[in-house]
Amino acid sequence: VNWETQRQAVQLTNLDATISKYCAVSKGYYSDPYIHLFVSTKEKRQPLINRGTHARVQAVQRLVERFLQFTTPYGKRQIINLGSGFDTLVFRLREKEFLGQDDVFVELDFPEITRTKRQIIQQHPSLHSLLGTTSFQKVHDGLSCGIYSLIGVNLEQIERVSYLLEKVCQLSPDSPTLVISECVFTYMEPQNADQIIQYFSSTFSFISFILFELTFPTDPFGRQMVKNIEQRGCSLASLSAYPTLKAQKERFIQYGYPKVDIMSMYSFYEDVLDSEEKQRIERLELLDELEEWRLLMQHYFLLYCLKVNNNTLKDSEVN
Ligand code: SAM
Repeated sequence: VNWETQRQAVQLTNLDATISKYCAVSKGYYSDPYIHLFVSTKEKRQPLINRGTHARVQAVQRLVERFLQFTTPYGKRQIINLGSGFDTLVFRLREKEFLGQDDVFVELDFPEITRTKRQIIQQHPSLHSLLGTTSFQKVHDGLSCGIYSLIGVNLEQIERVSYLLEKVCQLSPDSPTLVISECVFTYMEPQNADQIIQYFSSTFSFISFILFELTFPTDPFGRQMVKNIEQRGCSLASLSAYPTLKAQKERFIQYGYPKVDIMSMYSFYEDVLDSEEKQRIERLELLDELEEWRLLMQHYFLLYCLKVNNNTLKDSEVN
């Protein structure tokens, strides 16, 4: 496989995710007043995909908000969104006042993606006021203002990632830090993703990690899902490195996070999402394929982990 073609295919997954989010929002699954700024083609998605997108966005956003709530007493917080694509999380958090003027939010993606995102942000003053600034500095294929930095980098180059975070963004090793990785590691060599996981636990003394990913498929439905993605030119060979939820959990323990929680997205939907919210979204569109829905959701998982040095936190604050 040609490396350049694969890189382009991986970048296209961002457009796919952005369109899915736009569709779910326009059908009323959840609110995101910014996503429409990032889409140019308005395709439709099946109800199954809209419902799955809603669960994915809710799951990540809830964990992020929980992190920001429990770290409020600890001063400045730092969030790093890996392979952020056109994600609008920073704007949604600012709108809901979860992120203050002292906090820091950094997004990393390939330069091709961050340059386009920079252009879109620059074109829309409503986004500038959310970030609390009118002046941006152009940096490293992206931009930077007080609380927000968008930077172009290949995440497989860990030395460069660490230079950008520590020297350019000047992240502090002792502030509460949250890393988000949503549908990114799947497209990387597993040893490169491992390096990232390990880098964060060894560099930051108070670190949480949110991982949302595909699971390794062991059934025909899952194998077909993977085949569909691979037909677009992305290799998902990395999936076999950690084929079970148990293996994913052990991976994070091995790389420095003693406390790891993991669940399939089917459990998130069934056991975590409140019933009122479920009733509301189940009325939005008819969904007959309940078996397919279960299978789809069982093929994604959500992981949350934490490492805090020096016992600065009580257990009750973490759970
Ligand atoms: N996290 C966003 C979301 O959930 O909406 C985007 C997900 S999209 C499926 C995957 C993103 O990861 C793309 O924007 C892609 O460019 C980025 N990505 C994958 N491998 C990368 C790498 N080695 N370096 C930088 N970005 C990468």
